[in-house]
Amino acid sequence: MRNIPSVVDNDYTYWTSGWDDVLRLPFCEACDRWFFPPADTCPQCSGLVGFRDTTGTGTVFTYTVNVQRYNPDLPTPYVIALIELDDQAGLRIPGNVVGCEPDDVKIGMRVGVAFEPATSRDEPNGELFVPVFFPTDSGTGADPDGGDRR
Ligand SMILES: [Zn+2]
Repeated sequence: MRNIPSVVDNDYTYWTSGWDDVLRLPFCEACDRWFFPPADTCPQCSGLVGFRDTTGTGTVFTYTVNVQRYNPDLPTPYVIALIELDDQAGLRIPGNVVGCEPDDVKIGMRVGVAFEPATSRDEPNGELFVPVFFPTDSGTGADPDGGDRR
C-alpha cells in the first residue's frame, strides 16, 4: 500500500481516478489541452479546469534509479520516470516504472499506466491510487515477461 502525503481539492480526482483504471488529468476546455500538475485554474489562461480521460500510454521521457531507501514502504532500487503521454506532445507526468528490472528501463520505452492502491493522512480509508507505468512492448531493452519478477 502506497502512502500519499496529502490530497487537496484540486488533485483529488487525480488520486482517485485509478478506481476504473483510467488516468485522468486536468484539462482546460478553453485551451483544449491537458496540463500537469493539477491546479485550480489553467496555467495558460487562468480558466476553470476539469479532468479528462487520457489513454494512459506513453514513452519514458527520462528517468532515474533510486537506490536510497527514503520511503520504508518502497523497496529499493526503484525507477522514477517522467512519462510523456501519447495524448498530447509535452504532456509529462512523474511515475514509477514497475514490472521490469531498473536496468531494463530505457528512454523512449513504451509504457502503459497501472494503479497501486494508496492511503493518505487526509483519506485514511479513501479509495486512492498511485499511477505507475509498466513496459508494453519489447525491442527497447525491456523484458515483456518481467511483470512477475518484482
Ligand atoms: Zn486554459
